[in-house]
Amino acid sequence: MNAYIHVPFCRNKCAYCAFYSLPAADGDLIQKYVAEIVRQLQACPATFSTLYLGGGTPTLLAEKDLERIFSAVRLAPGAEVSIEANPETLTPEKLAMLSNYANRLSIGVQSFSVNKRKKLGRDCSDKAIHAALDCPHFPHRNLDLMYAVPGDTADSFREDLRLAVASGVDHISCYSLTPEEQTAFAGTVIDEEMSADLWQLAGDTLGEAGILRYEISNYARPGAECRHNVNVWKGGILQGFGPAAASFDGHQRYRQQENVTSWLHGAPPEWDMIPEDARRREIFAVNLRTVAGWKKRDFLALPGAVEEEWQTFLQTLAPFSPLYCTIASDEVKLTDRGLLFWDSIASELL
Ligand code: SF4
Repeated sequence: MNAYIHVPFCRNKCAYCAFYSLPAADGDLIQKYVAEIVRQLQACPATFSTLYLGGGTPTLLAEKDLERIFSAVRLAPGAEVSIEANPETLTPEKLAMLSNYANRLSIGVQSFSVNKRKKLGRDCSDKAIHAALDCPHFPHRNLDLMYAVPGDTADSFREDLRLAVASGVDHISCYSLTPEEQTAFAGTVIDEEMSADLWQLAGDTLGEAGILRYEISNYARPGAECRHNVNVWKGGILQGFGPAAASFDGHQRYRQQENVTSWLHGAPPEWDMIPEDARRREIFAVNLRTVAGWKKRDFLALPGAVEEEWQTFLQTLAPFSPLYCTIASDEVKLTDRGLLFWDSIASELL
C-alpha cells in the first residue's frame, strides 16, 4: 500500500501553481493541521511500502512537527519515503533530521536561471538551491525543472538540463508549463512545437548522461525510479491524508475536501464513482505514460480484469502500431513518438 500526505501550506504562491496550498497560513492553523494528520495516521492500521509527503511545501513545517508526522506512519521494512522540499525552507539541521526518516528528497528548482524563476513567481535563491543540492544525506534525490515557459529557448533549457545533471541527482522531473485557469499564467499560449522540441531535448540530453526517461515527465538512473509513483500509475492502492489528498481503494477514487477548515471539521471526502471497467480503462491509459507500458500479467492482476479486456485494448491500439506503439501478445508500450501524442491515444481508450 502507498500513502500520500498533502501538506497544504507554502511560503507564497508560485505563479503557475494550481495545487491546493495556502500561502502564509497562521501558526495556529498549521498546528491544528499537524495534530489532525497525526491523529489520522495513528488511527490507520495499514502498513505502507511507500510514503510521499507533497503539497504544498512539507518542508515549511517545523522540524518537531515533521518528526511527529513521520513517527505516526507505519512503514514496511525497506519502504521508500519521499518528501518534496522548497530549498528556501531547508536548513542544515532540518535536512539532517529529514534524512533520519526520508530516503528520497525532491527539490523544487524549476530553473537555475534567476530570471526564469522570477517569471514563475518562484521564491528561491541560488544559494538555497545549491545548499539543498549539495546535501549528502539522502540516497535518492529528485530535482524538478519546468520548460515551455514564455522566453525559453533550446539553449536556455539545455543549460538547465546541464546544471541538473551536474548536480549529481539521480532523478529529474521535467514538466511543461500548463497555464491553469486559476493561475497567473491563465490564457498564456504555449508554443506546442517548441514544447515538443524541448521534451525531445530533455530525453536526449538526460539519456546521454544515463538518466533515462521512464515516464513522459520523469527521468532516472536505473533503479532510482520513484516507486511510489510507479505503483500509483499501475493502479496500486493509495491512501491519501490531508486536505485535497487523493486516494484509490483498488476500485474507486476519492478525494479529501480541498479546504483545510472543512477537512478539520471532518467533512467527508468526495467519491468519484464510475463503473469498474471504466476505472480499469483509465488505469490502463495512465500507465501507458510509462516507457515500460503494460505487461499483460500486471494488467490481469488488477481487480476484475479479464483477458477479453486486454484484447480489446490491443485492438484499440492496433491502428497506432508501429509508429506510436509496439504491441506483442503479452505486452504493449508506446514509442517515443507515441508518448508525445499520449493525450490523443488515451482519448481512444477512455
Ligand atoms: S511551492 Fe509548490 S505547492 Fe507551493 S505554490 Fe509553489 S508550486 Fe505550488
